[in-house]
Amino acid sequence: MTSAHLKFERATEKVSACVSGMRPSAVRNLFAAANRSDIISLAGGMPDVSLLPQSAVRKATKAAWSDEMSVALQYGGTDGRIETRRVFSDLMRDEGIRCKPENIIITSGAQQALDLIGKTFLDPGDIVITEGPTYLGALQAFSAYEPDIRCIPFDEAGMRIDLLEAELERIGKDNPRLKFLYTIPNFQNPGGVTMVPERRKRLIELSKEYNFIVVEDDPYGRLRYDGGHVLPLKALSDDVVYLGTISKVFAPGLRCGWVAAPSGVLSKINLAKQGTDLCGSSFDQVVVEHYFRDTPWQKTLQKFVKTYRTRRDAMLKALDEYFPPEATWTRPEGGFFVWVTLPTYVDTSSMLAEALASGVIYTPGDGFFPDGKRGRNSMRIAFCYESPENIDEAIKRLAAVIEEKLEL
Ligand code: PMP
Repeated sequence: MTSAHLKFERATEKVSACVSGMRPSAVRNLFAAANRSDIISLAGGMPDVSLLPQSAVRKATKAAWSDEMSVALQYGGTDGRIETRRVFSDLMRDEGIRCKPENIIITSGAQQALDLIGKTFLDPGDIVITEGPTYLGALQAFSAYEPDIRCIPFDEAGMRIDLLEAELERIGKDNPRLKFLYTIPNFQNPGGVTMVPERRKRLIELSKEYNFIVVEDDPYGRLRYDGGHVLPLKALSDDVVYLGTISKVFAPGLRCGWVAAPSGVLSKINLAKQGTDLCGSSFDQVVVEHYFRDTPWQKTLQKFVKTYRTRRDAMLKALDEYFPPEATWTRPEGGFFVWVTLPTYVDTSSMLAEALASGVIYTPGDGFFPDGKRGRNSMRIAFCYESPENIDEAIKRLAAVIEEKLEL
């Protein structure tokens, strides 16, 4: 063993208990396989950026490298550029949320917002409530702060509020350890389900009754393929901490998201952010600002919606056609994902190797639960990235793999 190798070994012994306990993201590990040309990937939640018009992107980017270069290449304030925050305030107004630019802080994607929320609110052992399953990136972000995460199942109408009430009764009123409830009410990741208006209203009432913060994560809200708009939780109560991002309506390569929250909360998040990165990318913010201000982005959004709707329809049709009656799945009205449940004896993590050999990958369900024990018989399949023909072929291949596992 070389001395450099020895040093490396010793350094890993110094890693914190928290990081040692972190599990690698199943999706990240799958990205390598997703690049193989013989594999059809239903694993990642990547938007199809090839749908973006080059002229609009070039126009927005040109502003950052010519007219506003001195700003774009400089440090900015921790809260982010006021012009970009104005754009986000306008985007939220379209959704029914009234929020001043001053009540927004710009983050490096919604992912950084999740980490900052964990950093701002959580001490070890504090209680966080989430949907179960939930976005694995949120679980990764929160788990660094060692909370006690309680998962509430969903059905086609979103989080089961009756089960939430039962959990809250166990936790008790004004329990100082209960900090926040994290929800993705629109086209949930990984479930694809949407919380109905009555449940949203009741959730806000419960947050006041039991004294917890509602954190609403809404990356997919504008990607609705059928049904009518449902008012965000933030439109029902100004106390809600709302997370937005441009990743799914523009481009995730520009790391730009935001938190809209009451000013007391924002000033604490600002403090947490200073130690993380001082400020977000000024360059990205200038590009984003010009894209939403100076280009016909709504037309591009319509193109996204039309394309993803066709892919969603292709997936649901293929599932109906090829999947065995033992499987059940959600029928999303928008977003990127379908959640599939198989008989309890099927382990989707170990089945992944067989799926890979058949030329298809998906995300096993256990990663979407904090303990990694639940969800073993489920999987998330994404329809956002592949063509309808590929989706049909992938579901056919997957059905054959599942068929082999069934105890008939
Ligand atoms: N929240 C949810 C529910 C997501 O699905 C994602 C991305 N897949 C994020 C947050 C992070 O998005 P961003 O690219 O804005 O960091």
